[in-house]
Amino acid sequence: MKKITIAIDGFSACGKSTTAKEVARELNYRYIDSGAMYRAVTLYFLEHHIALTNPREVSTALDAIHINFVVNSKGFSETFLNGVNVEKEIRKMRISEQVSAVSTIKAVREAMVSQQRKLGKDKGIVMDGRDIGTVVFPGAELKVFLTADMQVRAYRRQLELLNRGDLVDIEDIIENLTQRDRIDSTRVESPLKKAEDAITIDTTNITADEQVDKVIRLAISRMISR
Ligand code: C5P
Repeated sequence: MKKITIAIDGFSACGKSTTAKEVARELNYRYIDSGAMYRAVTLYFLEHHIALTNPREVSTALDAIHINFVVNSKGFSETFLNGVNVEKEIRKMRISEQVSAVSTIKAVREAMVSQQRKLGKDKGIVMDGRDIGTVVFPGAELKVFLTADMQVRAYRRQLELLNRGDLVDIEDIIENLTQRDRIDSTRVESPLKKAEDAITIDTTNITADEQVDKVIRLAISRMISR
């Protein structure tokens, strides 16, 4: 079967990465978490005190940033920033609180989109994010848009953070998700929106396995119909 490109977009904490990771594993495709790239840029900007409103500082910083993904011994992809494993650090609330502001910057988006396209040039990839089906791979054979109720999203994110050793108040999580939804969907540069040809899956009342199943079925039907 020919390899295809699978784009999974949607709001934060709707199950995008859980679904994308497992779909990639089952199809033996490469998984790329585009949100991790924006998070890694945010970490670099914070650590180097980059002024987001200074285009020259932003551009110099972007030239100094190298992001790559390495699959660990358990089969999970981890994010490296300039050779350092930052997978844990980029999931922290201090990054979640700043990442949407950093992601509105045109130069940041251009740099990330260009890298994402390179990573996906041979197809056989599952990429999740906000603009994958609309901007990064508008020609993707399968586009999925995930949604879920806020309460469910917040509980899932709280559990995920807890599993990483961070106890965060549910109200703080709801506030962060609400704010990111707003910034991500109203920004000028590639705002979060459903691609016209994307298939919406509401994950509120289904399990992670069911989400994965639905996407795999869709993927196989796209591979066959090519
Ligand atoms: O997917 P995740 O929640 O880790 O993404 C973090 C943030 O990165 C999002 O809230 C959004 O601001 C930004 N992002 C983006 N475009 C993408 C992926 C993520 O702007 N393709």
